[in-house]
Amino acid sequence: MNPLLNVDVALKNILADMKTLEAETVSLPDSYDRVLAEDIVSPIDLPPFDNSAMDGYALRYEDSAGASPPMPATLAVTMDIMAGGAPDGRLEAGQAARIMTGAPIPKGASAVIPVEDTDDDWSKGENSPLPAEVRLFKRLTRGENIRLAGENIKTGETILTAGTVIGAAEIGMIAGIGRPRVAVIRQPKVVILSSGDELVDIYDELGPGKIRDTNGYTLAGLIRDAGGLPIRLPIAKDSLASIRALYRRALDINPDLIISTAGVSVGAADLVRVVMDELGEIDFWRINMRPGKPLAYGTICGVPFFGLPGNPVSTMVTFEVLVRPALAKIAGRSVAQRTIKATITDDIRSDGRRTYARVTVRREGDCFVARSTGIQSSGALMSMVLADGLAIIPEDQTLVPAGGELEVLLLRGIE
Ligand code: AMP
Ligand code: MG
Repeated sequence: MNPLLNVDVALKNILADMKTLEAETVSLPDSYDRVLAEDIVSPIDLPPFDNSAMDGYALRYEDSAGASPPMPATLAVTMDIMAGGAPDGRLEAGQAARIMTGAPIPKGASAVIPVEDTDDDWSKGENSPLPAEVRLFKRLTRGENIRLAGENIKTGETILTAGTVIGAAEIGMIAGIGRPRVAVIRQPKVVILSSGDELVDIYDELGPGKIRDTNGYTLAGLIRDAGGLPIRLPIAKDSLASIRALYRRALDINPDLIISTAGVSVGAADLVRVVMDELGEIDFWRINMRPGKPLAYGTICGVPFFGLPGNPVSTMVTFEVLVRPALAKIAGRSVAQRTIKATITDDIRSDGRRTYARVTVRREGDCFVARSTGIQSSGALMSMVLADGLAIIPEDQTLVPAGGELEVLLLRGIE
């Protein structure tokens, strides 16, 4: 029997094998949560023109010199500029232009006074008549309340770099420079295979000795969460013909990754192994982790393949520890795992393998506190519903006493 393989070594080997997918071009609305595959350079200044940061009056700042509530400066109102307008006149000494936020600053103006600092009253709303004169109660500095062209972004400036995940702010910036299409990394197509005579799908009747295929659904969720496109095939029977047909069907889809569950432990493995020997180059790894010791890894007709253990918790934990980073690399995303240090509330025992214990995590002051979700059976999927994270008990440690500190791999955000 091969010795147990260290988890970190396994992950390092896996990541070295994975290749990031090529780019594709998508429309901007479809680029949300995708990974940018190009640097985005702005062809324009942002803002594109000098504009007002306030509703008020544009003027030459010198004309406000000495203005105060008892000694207001009076200017003639010669222009009215709405947002979206394009003033063509020029503001001369002693003149002011009524101006709205975002409207272009007219030539000659060098500051904007907010309407609150004038004698004008806009309480009548948009239809307020344009006054002939306006009195200023405040002195302004040069450039006050003017947003200058290019003050946010200059023409030719790189606003986003390849590898960035496009979120709301990023998509807004790309819209702001008027790009309708962007290059993003193609999303990995991931085929999910379940096999077992005991498995039935959610639509089928639960006959004697049968259980539902849950792994097909948890994996689809995990793959989606990791930026992949899950494709779930029908459940194969425990027969050579059925398993062979399923793997052929998987390959017909031309996937970027194939994930199967079950059939890799000794005993159950034989049928799957036969098919893998026919189609692929697979190593059967006995990994030094709990849950999830038996794991198959390699390629099938050149497509990367993971054969995860069948127990529902083992499937999810091995995905988190080994498959999520692999999928992240294929998808061009960060492979870093989110971990924190937490104090454990109760003794946790292990068998000397690196153990991933399901825990809830809460914040207490500056620290995190982790508590076991209770039942830790690798068949009890409910422990994953309850878990905020996986507390990692290092190799060769069989007891972590209450009050000890462990690293926790986070499965979700902590309140
Ligand atoms: P096996 O690796 O086939 O021996 O399966 C190990 C355990 O996982 C057994 O209890 C199976 O019934 C269970 N199992 C296998 N595949 C699935 C699945 N797709 N969904 C839920 N449980 C499964
Ligand atoms: Mg089975």
